[in-house]
Amino acid sequence: EDQLVQLVANREVPSGGLPTDVGCLVQNVGTAAAIFDWIVSNEPLVSRVTTVTGDGIARPMNVRVRLGTTIADVVNFVGGYTERAQHLIVGGPMTGKSITTDRVPVVKATNCILALSVHPSVAEEMPCIRCGDCAAVCPIQLLPQQLFWYACADDEDRLRKQGLTDCIECGCCDLVCPSRISLTANFRIAKARIREMADEKARAERARARFEARTERIERDRLAREEELARQKEQAKLAGPAAIAEILKRRQRTDKDD
Ligand code: SF4
Ligand code: SF4
Repeated sequence: EDQLVQLVANREVPSGGLPTDVGCLVQNVGTAAAIFDWIVSNEPLVSRVTTVTGDGIARPMNVRVRLGTTIADVVNFVGGYTERAQHLIVGGPMTGKSITTDRVPVVKATNCILALSVHPSVAEEMPCIRCGDCAAVCPIQLLPQQLFWYACADDEDRLRKQGLTDCIECGCCDLVCPSRISLTANFRIAKARIREMADEKARAERARARFEARTERIERDRLAREEELARQKEQAKLAGPAAIAEILKRRQRTDKDD
């Protein structure tokens, strides 16, 4: 998205920001069509076009699928699996995620179903040789090899500083890496961890604010009670000893309730 905004509108999306921060909104064709159907024909989003492909599929094609249909039914519709089918991936070949069963439904984000004979990341991972190929192809101009080191070291600070949150998980770095390192998968996990930490921090911040508000309220109530007591004492002094005894009794009861 950020590259499209740069190319089409010549505006730079700030790091960690969204296209809307620079007045742009990027939609894919499917979303644009769904908006059209909704506004013009009053049709809700109940189906989407999905690409079913790979050497594990008998008749690869694009199909319009109702949301909620299982992947197994979609594959049956296109002729079933070939004998070579070994791995199932939902999403594109570069950013898709492996799944272990086809008894899962198509959802609005299921743009592609891939059945492959060889898993793309089946080759053995080798150590990074710092060739820099990953950095050369990164569309965001990140340094994937550095990010990989920091992700392995759980160094959240450096990951943030090096712009991990800007990674669009395109998978280009994986594709060119001669050491077959699963860089994108590592980045995905590290980003989830950073999000978790941010959520945790926000939760702690909310809990602290709640605690402070409660302490303030208790203190405010205590001061108000003391003021009220002083006022009553003043009144009792004028009224005599019997009224003072009554006030003291009332105070003991209040203290017990607290
Ligand atoms: S392409 Fe692979 S081996 Fe080369 S620097 Fe990047 S991570 Fe290291
Ligand atoms: S997946 Fe790799 S190439 Fe793509 S944006 Fe992230 S670091 Fe760059």
